[in-house]
Amino acid sequence: MLLDNHGRTINYLRLAVTDRCNLRCHYCMPEHGLQWLSRADLLSYEEMLRLCRVLIGLGINKVRITGGEPFVRKDLMKFLTELSRIEGLQQINLTTNGVVTAPLVPELKKIGIRSVNLSLDTLDRERFFQITRRDELPNVLETMEALLRHDIAVKINAVVMDGQNTDDLIPLAKMAQNLPVDVRFIEEMPFNGGDHVNVMPLWDHLRILDTLRAEWPDLEKIPDPPFSTSMNYRVPGHTGTIGIIAAWSRTFCGSCNRIRVTPQGVLKTCLYDHGVLHLRDLMREGLSDPELADHLIFAFNHRHKNGWEAEEARKGIPVEESMATIGG
Ligand code: SAM
Ligand code: SF4
Repeated sequence: MLLDNHGRTINYLRLAVTDRCNLRCHYCMPEHGLQWLSRADLLSYEEMLRLCRVLIGLGINKVRITGGEPFVRKDLMKFLTELSRIEGLQQINLTTNGVVTAPLVPELKKIGIRSVNLSLDTLDRERFFQITRRDELPNVLETMEALLRHDIAVKINAVVMDGQNTDDLIPLAKMAQNLPVDVRFIEEMPFNGGDHVNVMPLWDHLRILDTLRAEWPDLEKIPDPPFSTSMNYRVPGHTGTIGIIAAWSRTFCGSCNRIRVTPQGVLKTCLYDHGVLHLRDLMREGLSDPELADHLIFAFNHRHKNGWEAEEARKGIPVEESMATIGG
């Protein structure tokens, strides 16, 4: 078992395979002016597979593929197939905006993907366009239906933004009434690539919970799975569940089991740090697997206690990089 310097288990890697995206959600990136990484800057699939093998050897057993939008990177399905063959890896999950995912769902099922997080901030087509700057809601809903039809678990991720989609909270939560989905509301974080200044979200987890309770006074707290970042609830009689992720308030750092690798191969041991290890460069300098493992273990033994400490350690570098360069 892999433990960090605070005694926390590390068993979960979030791997962002690209910074590019077919949407332009303004909580994540500005509409124009983002400099995409060049192909040479990105980790190659071979490098990602190598890194995954080393990390799985150390104790990682769950990998989430994210981005940017993972499905805009060429040959993703081949990479997923290769990844699924690594011994010791118990789970591969995906986070996607669902724009081009629907036709690939049968293949995802074959590869063994059992759970997908689908980002969906509103069920209103006009509002979807305002938030993502693209008119793609029907494709996202088609992906959700395809996933459910193929018996792949679906978690809906909705970022809650003051004045934009707070009227959507209840309609989104009502999806769990008849569908086996977990609808999770996420506090907005400042990782928007400079689209706007976001010092602290006006809708924090407490306000989100109050809004849900006003609609459903009998909303009940249900046990949170181990390492859960969401606080989970159920409306009696509803098929699915509702979760709230205090991503800005950072209430879950004490049991954080996750590390991140960015598209350019930078290791982040906290969402709020500025990157702690340049894995791509180490690999390209010719380090052996055991040497790479030593560097990783060193980083795991110097993890920040929580997101506040990690933010402080950025020494004034603002938290404003696009979430597409981190993976969520
Ligand atoms: N493109 C894919 C998607 O949207 O699902 C995967 C990458 S996206 C960066 C991963 C997750 O981060 C999404 O659920 C998205 O809603 C969330 N996210 C992006 N920017 C955010 C922000 N500023 N605050 C909170 N969540 C954010
Ligand atoms: Fe793209 Fe996901 Fe960022 Fe939206 S949240 S712009 S879908 S990477």
